[in-house]
Amino acid sequence: MSPASTVTGLPTVLVINSGSSSLKYQLLVPDTGEVLASGLIEQIGEASGRINHTTGDHKYVEETRIDDHGVALAALQDQFAAYGPNLDEITITAVGHRVVHGGSSFSEPVVIDDAVLAEIEALCPLAPLHNPAAVAGIRAARERFHVPHVAVFDTAFFSGLPEAASTYAIPTELAAQHKIKKYGFHGTSHEYVSRQVATELGVPVADLNVIVFHLGNGASVSAVRGGRAIETSMGLTPLQGLVMGTRCGDIDASIYMYLHNVADLSIAEIDTLLNKQSGLKGLCGDNDFRAIDQRIRRGDTAAKRAFEVYVHRLRLYLGSYAFTLGRLDAVAFTAGVGENNPMLRAAATSGLEHFGLHLDEGRNASSTKHARVISTDHSPVKIMVVPTNEELAIARQAEELVERLRP
Ligand code: ADP
Repeated sequence: MSPASTVTGLPTVLVINSGSSSLKYQLLVPDTGEVLASGLIEQIGEASGRINHTTGDHKYVEETRIDDHGVALAALQDQFAAYGPNLDEITITAVGHRVVHGGSSFSEPVVIDDAVLAEIEALCPLAPLHNPAAVAGIRAARERFHVPHVAVFDTAFFSGLPEAASTYAIPTELAAQHKIKKYGFHGTSHEYVSRQVATELGVPVADLNVIVFHLGNGASVSAVRGGRAIETSMGLTPLQGLVMGTRCGDIDASIYMYLHNVADLSIAEIDTLLNKQSGLKGLCGDNDFRAIDQRIRRGDTAAKRAFEVYVHRLRLYLGSYAFTLGRLDAVAFTAGVGENNPMLRAAATSGLEHFGLHLDEGRNASSTKHARVISTDHSPVKIMVVPTNEELAIARQAEELVERLRP
């Protein structure tokens, strides 16, 4: 029997997602998905920081200086003390941490001890923007919450990719020496959504071949056969693959050298250019799909072109992943753009009736928030919208692991 929260009578998990200048948290009940509180601490390390704390229907906003992740965790506890729920009345059974890069070391969630933390830190060269923040967040949280802390890795779902899919065609020894391979990201979301598809269709995961498009500001696609990922679009870093909000996705690797030699940009400048100033933003100046949508409706040609480049790339992946799977049962759209933009979903799947994809325009246009099928009843391939919930997935994985290890 596991310890329980006195508020819900069920185990409760605190999920922490530490970014370099922000920290998101959620206190939730893995069994039911009930969110007891959530928050966002922003502008860590800047002159003035901002804390948003939500519990029930109440939202609280505070401006205060947040020097580092240690101060952020203190602020998090202060929010609970001031606005609730009262952490003294809740037994938090685990803290789940989102960690972006697990390299080849971590293929599943793991309870964090000093050795695990050192290994996550050793992976910082592979994710220089993300893993240092996770390490800082974990350190600070371990000092304040004396319960098991579990790391859930964005790369884990893709750790079993077939070698042919994860191997770059560069000299083998060099790749091995520097750990260069396709790791993939957004794995927690791809795993969660692919399982939700099975639940929604009433089919065992083992019998299902599905392509999941996670289309947020970052965007990735995966091919999942029988619950196991066999392909994904992000690579050594999240820069590869689909056109994204500000990332270019796939390009000729020589563009790096060309920009260096011809445009006289430094490696650091090119890195910033391709990660932060490219993608939809580079093509039309906007990376928010709502703005692009409105501009297209007003006849803006740059926005229309950006949309077409985005859709063209996406359809290339749809086709190649369908062939890689051999048989396709469902295509699922998730995250901000995938869940909310019917125009994109229509453009991505139109004209593919010959391949078994029949979109139902009415269902596609509906804006309900729950998982649903948007293809026709007779469509051989189901087209679906499945809201992702990475916090719930992390909480469930953390709770399951802690429960399994409990004496
Ligand atoms: P991330 O977590 O990667 O920052 P999100 O999953 O929140 O990204 O997705 C952000 C994208 O989703 C933005 O391009 C935004 O315009 C789009 N988006 C969010 N909500 C809506 C909506 N209601 N309608 C259309 N697009 C939306």
